[in-house]
Amino acid sequence: MDGDARENRDIKERIRELMPNEAELSNIEFEGPDVAVYVKNVGFVYNDESIIKNISASIKKRLIVRSDEKQLSDEETALKKIMSIIPADAGVTEEGIRFDKEFSQVYIEAMKPGLVIGKGGVTLIKIISETNWIPKVLRIPTMNSDVIKGIRNLVVKESEFRKKFLTSVGKKINQPMVKSEWLKATALGGFREVGRSCLLLETNHSKILIDCGISPEPGIKGFDTTATENKAFPYLDGANITINDLDAVVLTHAHMDHIGFVPYLFKFGYNGPVYCTPPSRDLAALSLYDYNKLVMRTGGTPLYGEKDIKNMLMHMIPRDYGEVTNITDEIKLTYHNAGHILGSATVHLHIGEGLYNIVHTGDLKYGFTRLFDQADTKYPRIDALFMESTYGGPRDIGHDRQGGEVELMDFIKRTVENGGKVLIPLFAIGRAQELQLVLESYMANNKLYSMEAPVFLDGMILEASAIHTAYPEYLKMGLRHRILNNNSPFESEIFEIAKGERSEIVEKGPAVILASGGMLNGGTSLEYFKALAADPKNALVFVGYNSAGSFGRRVQNGLKETALPGEDGRMEPMKIEMQVKTMDIFSGHSDRPQLMSFVEHLRPAAKKIYTMHGEESKCDDLARTLGNRFRVEARSPMDLDSIRFK
Ligand SMILES: [Zn+2]
Repeated sequence: MDGDARENRDIKERIRELMPNEAELSNIEFEGPDVAVYVKNVGFVYNDESIIKNISASIKKRLIVRSDEKQLSDEETALKKIMSIIPADAGVTEEGIRFDKEFSQVYIEAMKPGLVIGKGGVTLIKIISETNWIPKVLRIPTMNSDVIKGIRNLVVKESEFRKKFLTSVGKKINQPMVKSEWLKATALGGFREVGRSCLLLETNHSKILIDCGISPEPGIKGFDTTATENKAFPYLDGANITINDLDAVVLTHAHMDHIGFVPYLFKFGYNGPVYCTPPSRDLAALSLYDYNKLVMRTGGTPLYGEKDIKNMLMHMIPRDYGEVTNITDEIKLTYHNAGHILGSATVHLHIGEGLYNIVHTGDLKYGFTRLFDQADTKYPRIDALFMESTYGGPRDIGHDRQGGEVELMDFIKRTVENGGKVLIPLFAIGRAQELQLVLESYMANNKLYSMEAPVFLDGMILEASAIHTAYPEYLKMGLRHRILNNNSPFESEIFEIAKGERSEIVEKGPAVILASGGMLNGGTSLEYFKALAADPKNALVFVGYNSAGSFGRRVQNGLKETALPGEDGRMEPMKIEMQVKTMDIFSGHSDRPQLMSFVEHLRPAAKKIYTMHGEESKCDDLARTLGNRFRVEARSPMDLDSIRFK
């Protein structure tokens, strides 16, 4: 049988039955997990919102209705019409409007997307009725983001490729379901350890990976051959599969230990879909390009090239929280908020018709942060729960957050008033933004803490913060409102962008410097460290994790003298006289009580629990404690263990 004959014809037939004749249906295509329907009278369909809703509910898939290509207005006329329909204060320019003929859609970038959509979608419908193009409205981040620009350009430029790719994925997904008899999971990385997270799920005829990361620690030469011995990559060779057997890769969030190995799959011939949330796609691009640059700068050999990263981006299928998506004929994926970083998600998988339900937490925050709501605890069903255990040990109890904030601010104030500079090395994504919110809240809104010292932002932090402003709907309500009302705390006047020479910042008066490079393992933060370390008036504050072998950990443990490469590459001896303080209060991970509380609040309760993403003793202790407390089977599998569920 050819591919077309094997497609699920039921769906197409049902659409033909349900679509009113007036719409003048011309074609139906499976497009990735969605169904695209082409009609001659697209205005008719969009004027009655119940049409799409009803068909969508009936076929249990997202339905995209588009205009038959012949009906589209020519682009020049359509552009004029669109500009005349959209209110001026929506912040749309002609350059921000791009036509994508492959998909009969028009991308409209707006400062205020709400005004392009209109009340109840009225403005959108007007655009559709008058031009037959389907608008896709994109928010312009309030801060410049080269990553977002790059990805939006890529999507339009490669739309012919995307169309072919999505159609072939769609054909595969929409084959009539074959009922599977067995289901198993194999731990390929990140079990009883932190790093290289990777879980393989298999049935008789589907194979998917959840996350596929690397361990970038301890050296930044993470892609070096020596690093292989440091357990840097998942055990893809340990599972009896080849890369092209995989049906899909599902990502939880954009940290390197969850995504860092994905471009490698593409380098070696994978050409299937990668699912993630829209912010995860942008943050993944940022992390991967940046990491590759860092590896090269520090003399390592990248494991893959920029073209492999680009190839990965072209194969990504973004999904929002709550959208139920068929990723194979028998597996349905739904993302839920994980509260960890922007776009981070827990994964709910419904396998077979009621055969089995799995929840994978990725990294999880079930507690207060200024950025996000805490992780979701409601799922349709949880037969097995895979949960992270980073801080799962019995003594992993987080510090009082509010008291900690005050302590940190007092320390910064004292240092600055004594004429010193405060250097805070940060991972660019997550904690950097959390800290920006804390600094803004105290320094801009609390007279006690208003200081005569600028807060400099240097390195990747700026770009990461910009991506946050493009996705206000993923942020906590109060923060969302501030960004939507042009009062974004990320752009507060207390922040200054480090432009030009770092030496100028170093030579000027007191300042707070947020620099990317969390563990002082090369990068921006190390440059500042070299310039500031010798002066006892200065201070270094660690707000995040330093891995065991990192330079950051040695400084944290009281290193007083060292040698680092100078400008000419030669090692120069240096003294560390600056104050060193650790304030680990902004964690995007749950502490032990929060992990316990997460499991307690799950509805419905999890029937089996498997711990992962934590040191061996923590995974082990957490599993044992959860098992006793909730009277469920709970275990901490090792890498290469397989678990049979059915
Ligand atoms: Zn993470």
